Amino acid sequence: MQQAISTNKKIVMSGIRPTGFLHLGNYFGAIQNYVKMQNDYECYFMVADLHSLTTHPDTKELKQNVYRVVAENIACGLDPQKSAFYCQSHVKETSELYLYLNMLAKMGELEKTVTFKDKARQNPDNINAGLLTYPVLQAADILIHRASFVPVGKDQEQHLEMARIFANRYNHRYGNVFPEPHAFNYNQALVKVPALDGSGKMSKSENQMATLYLADDDTTIRKKVMKTLTDNGPTEKNSVMPDYIENIFLLMQLVSNTDKIEKYTTDFNEANIRYGDLKKELAEDMVTFISPIRQKTIDLLNNEKALKEILEIGSEKANKSANQTMQIVRETMGLNY
Ligand code: AMP
Repeated sequence: MQQAISTNKKIVMSGIRPTGFLHLGNYFGAIQNYVKMQNDYECYFMVADLHSLTTHPDTKELKQNVYRVVAENIACGLDPQKSAFYCQSHVKETSELYLYLNMLAKMGELEKTVTFKDKARQNPDNINAGLLTYPVLQAADILIHRASFVPVGKDQEQHLEMARIFANRYNHRYGNVFPEPHAFNYNQALVKVPALDGSGKMSKSENQMATLYLADDDTTIRKKVMKTLTDNGPTEKNSVMPDYIENIFLLMQLVSNTDKIEKYTTDFNEANIRYGDLKKELAEDMVTFISPIRQKTIDLLNNEKALKEILEIGSEKANKSANQTMQIVRETMGLNY
């Protein structure tokens, strides 16, 4: 039985692309907040399959990847009874809103987007129009539910800024329909989980040896953590921490207890730190964190029928909300003849 979503709570929307295995960055940048927010807000969380086509046009593994993202989110604690958990392509009206918003988006501002420039550099043979208008589709995903809060990692800050611009432009031109959507992390700075080698961030498709995946087995986790770059340790007390060591402490803050972090911080400040021990403890804390999620995902993936049903229930809820917004959109735009 479908559970009705209450209408007087603030609305939350976010999505994850099915472009590969989810990792610690997805968890701490996004999913952790999905799980917290689902109790207090009206939440719409989606698997962004259409977005994935901008960089992954081959759809052979798409279905499998969609189910994996569903299973991994649920293994992390997302409750499809509390939230609308759906697939982007199952809400057809998003494409309609995307079309209208495209008329309000300027070429110049799209071309300046950092993610567009990065992705164009990485895929010089496939700089397609979908890649350019990626932030417009993302704005449509958010605005179609008239969401105010968007739990995302730091890499999405600029896209949210653009979603606000498009919402305001629409409201100015046609009438006040959309609230301004803001990136959300419970009043904390947005999260960026660094890659293990300190070069950029953990990512689904790049830098795989420097990314800890929620599907990694215990041996792989230990191997990746033990390979993290360290040095002989500081030679003087209270030295400045090099970036690559700071990253290791950042990762500890995600999964280790405060006593441990304090001990190793003191050891560093005393110029008496054993990085081998630190890495061994960090590796065990990562194993403790990741292995139950991995195991639960494996169990969930064995029941594809249940995963399909979750998406069906989610898309019913999401379509109801999208339908209400689009009626208002068509009316305010004067497309009601
Ligand atoms: P994507 O993997 O690009 O589909 O992103 C899905 C969600 O995970 C978005 O909210 C991103 O901001 C977040 N995310 C992805 N990588 C990281 C990372 N390394 N650190 C923090 N958040 C991340």
